[in-house]
Amino acid sequence: MSNLEMLNSPEFKTFVNQTFSGDESSFRFFDMMPIGLSITTDISCKEIRHNPKAASFLRIDDWSILSHSASNITYLKIFRNGQELLPEKMPIQRATWLGEEIESEELEFVWNDGVRKFGLWSARPVRDDNGVIVGALAVCEDITERRLLEEEKLKETENRFQKYLENMLECFAVLRVKRDEKGQIVEFRSEYINESGRRDRNITKEEHIGRSMHELYPNSIESGLFKMCCRVVETGEPIELDSFYISNVKKPNTIELYEGRIIKLDTERITFFGRNITEKKKLENEIGRLDRLNIVGEMAASIGHEIRNPLTTVRGYLQMFGMKDKYAEHKEQFSTMIEELDRANLIITEFLSLAKNKAVNFQHANLNEIIHTLLPLLQADALHRGNEIKIELGNIPELDLDKKEIRQLLMNLVRNAEEAMLSKGTIVIKTGLDEGQVSLSVQDSGRGIPKDILDKLGTPFFTTKDTGTGLGLPVCYRIAERHNAKIKVKTGVNGTTFFVKFNNPAHEE
Ligand code: ADP
Ligand code: MG
Repeated sequence: MSNLEMLNSPEFKTFVNQTFSGDESSFRFFDMMPIGLSITTDISCKEIRHNPKAASFLRIDDWSILSHSASNITYLKIFRNGQELLPEKMPIQRATWLGEEIESEELEFVWNDGVRKFGLWSARPVRDDNGVIVGALAVCEDITERRLLEEEKLKETENRFQKYLENMLECFAVLRVKRDEKGQIVEFRSEYINESGRRDRNITKEEHIGRSMHELYPNSIESGLFKMCCRVVETGEPIELDSFYISNVKKPNTIELYEGRIIKLDTERITFFGRNITEKKKLENEIGRLDRLNIVGEMAASIGHEIRNPLTTVRGYLQMFGMKDKYAEHKEQFSTMIEELDRANLIITEFLSLAKNKAVNFQHANLNEIIHTLLPLLQADALHRGNEIKIELGNIPELDLDKKEIRQLLMNLVRNAEEAMLSKGTIVIKTGLDEGQVSLSVQDSGRGIPKDILDKLGTPFFTTKDTGTGLGLPVCYRIAERHNAKIKVKTGVNGTTFFVKFNNPAHEE
């Protein structure tokens, strides 16, 4: 028989009525009940008595009086669904005063000393033979253990989830809406950022949490990020970001590329999931560049010689005829033709060095020596333009190099450097070790390279110059590739530096 069925049974009612009409000691019948029982025979509900089981739940002496409607109890608070319960809403009071029949209502009891208990309460009014309410009975099942266990499990799940968010590879952040008096969104404030996000942005929790989006992502307004976040809050629709530039307060002047998603969490919060794809995009560009180089390289290998040979013949004849008296009045035209042919030949030579299967001649060599031998030539050229070349050569080990190719690479980089400087300037050629890698750099004080051009560097025939061939850098990239080296560019308003970083394991001599 369930508690409720028992309370409803006519036998029990009779028993209670008899007990109620008897003296106080007759309550002792209830001592042996395995469930909590609270009884009142006082329709003001000031005197409610509790059997040992209920008393122990309520932390009072057996059968002592405890009533919420009788006195203002401050050491104990009672909640239903998280809301504090007024005395008149307690089950036994409602049964007595309103004749309500209450079934298994869950109440949470919280004492000042921190003890929390949960009980399922049912209550029934007790009526006399005329049907007039003379009191009420309530039974209570202690479900504290079960509830606390559930809470613990929930907390564990929450912790596990938080750990998961903390450890996932993607950046994850929670932002809270800040509104003005009219309810308009004025700002978003960081409420949480996971480990990936912090690492990616090189920022600590303290530096991120509590700060506004405008502070953390200074370009958030121009880039439309702020607007998008507002839209997510208003519509509840997530927004996908597939190539999105975000600034980084910790790395001024850099913007990083992200892909990700903004999702509404609740009316006042949004979350950002994302991944930094800056490096990945760079790699893709690099691969694209190599692909283009390969195509052109193959072309170079197959047609280069076919063009060069006839040109040599034509040049030979031109030279021969040009010397004849018969053509004396056209001497100038002849030398122009030869000059033009030579230029064509030069371009073809450059073009040929893009060939993939070009024979290379690797030897142990020191970059510094190659630079030294080439320096007079470079300086003569620089002097002619009014520029200056400085060298800063570090202590570096020998590498496996094709000297001819390295000379070509240096000449191409230095020539570009010269051409980038409109007024007189200085070019610095440096060598050194950078994280164990031999590094060669050519720095100019020229006008720098605009961002839209940066991605195109190394594309064969790409040039911004009137008489440029657009082959200098592709040749450099090809030479670097053959030497297992990488070319990196750093550019700004004060000039450009091309770095060639050699991956070869340094030779121990
Ligand atoms: P070219 O020099 O014939 O134009 P390159 O392949 O050597 O061909 O260079 C391609 C383009 O890259 C140049 O036209 C120029 O716009 C840019 N560039 C290369 N090096 C520099 C530099 N040091 N400073 C500024 N721009 C550069
Ligand atoms: Mg060039």
